[in-house]
Amino acid sequence: MVPRTPYEIAVEQFNTAIKYLDLAPGIADVMRVPRRELTVHFPVKMDDGSIQLFTGYRVQHSQDCGPAKGGIRYHPDVTLDEVKALAMWMCWKCSVMNLPYGGGKGGVICNPKKMSQGELERLTRRFATEITPIIGPQSDIPAPDVNTNPQTMAWFMDTYSMHTGAPCFAVVTGKPVELGGSLGRTEATGRGLMIAALEALKVKGIDPHKATAAVQGYGNVGSIGAYLLQDEGVKIVALSDSQGGIYRPSGLDARDVLRFKGETGTVVGYPDTTPISNEDLLELPVDLLVPAALEKAIHEGNVARVKAQVIVEGANGPTTPEADQVLAARGALVVPDVLANGGGVTVSYFEWVQDLQSYFWTEEEVNARLRRQMLASFGEVLRIAQDRKVTMRTAAYIKAVARVAKAIELRGIYP
Ligand code: NAD
Repeated sequence: MVPRTPYEIAVEQFNTAIKYLDLAPGIADVMRVPRRELTVHFPVKMDDGSIQLFTGYRVQHSQDCGPAKGGIRYHPDVTLDEVKALAMWMCWKCSVMNLPYGGGKGGVICNPKKMSQGELERLTRRFATEITPIIGPQSDIPAPDVNTNPQTMAWFMDTYSMHTGAPCFAVVTGKPVELGGSLGRTEATGRGLMIAALEALKVKGIDPHKATAAVQGYGNVGSIGAYLLQDEGVKIVALSDSQGGIYRPSGLDARDVLRFKGETGTVVGYPDTTPISNEDLLELPVDLLVPAALEKAIHEGNVARVKAQVIVEGANGPTTPEADQVLAARGALVVPDVLANGGGVTVSYFEWVQDLQSYFWTEEEVNARLRRQMLASFGEVLRIAQDRKVTMRTAAYIKAVARVAKAIELRGIYP
């Protein structure tokens, strides 16, 4: 059967990885399903005085290597199936990055673009209350995701703290720095991506000072990844956002494009550039391609025209399994999402450690530790890929699943 839902895809990827591992069938069965799925229905008083009912979820895929960890998204299309898949992927990401965490994810079905700040605050506080029985700094630590941000996390932290009667910063990450957030967290995913991209170029023998790059999606991950790569000598020739893309073969100033986007709302119209569609951007003759916007950007229909030798997945799931096979067959190096964008959750882990110790690090210290962690994980995944003659994605899954399986085995099956 062709997997259709996100959770079916996640299970299919897991089933592929375990072919390379000698797991007891019972252990694989445990890892294939979430440990806990909580569905909550809760009322929120809206600004017009009416009462609206919302549905939310919190899924803990695993707590075998540590507390569950993962974001909370607010979106009209949230489903339990999607949250289950995202929780499983978080488990593998935390495992690949050697973090002492399991995986989790949460979501609320709502349209935040049509809600006031007051309504969003009340929704957040009530949702936090509803899932309080299963979250906590030692059990499950939420973070921002699609349409949630540091302010959402501040409300979350405050609500949890009101219930426990004491300030508890470590219950969520991605908080404002004034409330126990970490320096360097905003840049962490882009910084980790830059480190992974430089390592991948090295593997392919491409000098960063002679490399060209195209970046799809100019949000948090894409824009910061782009200007940090530019700082390392990579020539950024094309950038895009939801409104379209820009191309300048002689190179763009990624920071100035960010300033322009801040003023105008889009990269489109940046001076002295050729307009380019998001589809065409993916097919440019560049050394490095960074899909940092959406899922399924590189698929069966366009992969034959994708020319980059190195693809570093800033977004989650930007390459379909079919496209992955085509890229592997032509020898392109794909750094998978669980590794390439793992810098974000790594600095979330640093934030949690700092909160637990009430001792805060300098930005230099955060960045240096992030670099060490990215290089170690990249090196381990590359070694598995070379030893087992598999893609970096399969290697990342082998590493991730093996670590969780070992934890389950060592802990034993309770009682
Ligand atoms: P963001 O909202 O800051 O930016 C997304 C960017 O993509 C925006 O520039 C938007 O205009 C653009 N975009 C939207 N639709 C597009 C389209 N059809 N074509 C081209 N561009 C389009 O989001 P972000 O935080 O940068 O996240 C981007 C991706 O990275 C997501 O897949 C997210 O799950 C993943 N990710 C983010 C983090 C993080 O720490 N922010 C961590 C891990 C993974």
